[in-house]
Amino acid sequence: MDQLQPQPQPAPQPSAPQMTTCPVCHISIPTSFFFCPNCGAPLRPTPPVVTLKQQISAYSVALFLPPFGLWYVWKYIRSSDPKTKKIGIVTLVLTVIAIIVAVWTTIAITNSLNQAVNQSLGSFGSGGLGNLGGLGGL
Ligand SMILES: [Zn+2]
Repeated sequence: MDQLQPQPQPAPQPSAPQMTTCPVCHISIPTSFFFCPNCGAPLRPTPPVVTLKQQISAYSVALFLPPFGLWYVWKYIRSSDPKTKKIGIVTLVLTVIAIIVAVWTTIAITNSLNQAVNQSLGSFGSGGLGNLGGLGGL
């Protein structure tokens, strides 16, 4: 005895944007809005903003403790917020510069040490080798 009867369905409105209501002033707002255009109330959680203090600490770590700066890079560069991403990129650049400076300084110190050792060995000249020969003879 079932008779299929056309059920009245609410007509879909594809052209209308999805609407939400402002929790403060209760006007209708498209869901794509971050803030209420009427009262300015936040409607969606905005991406976390990196404070100036966090920026400075990230840059300091990048410059003075190069490998640990990469932790900040990893943390910030994945952010969807372009400003935070930029901080991550700047931290990465600073980390790379700090690593290059550290490597360059190490090479320079090693070279000057080698030079000093060579000079002091050179001043002994054949005498040094003679001493070694004497030791061998003992
Ligand atoms: Zn509002």
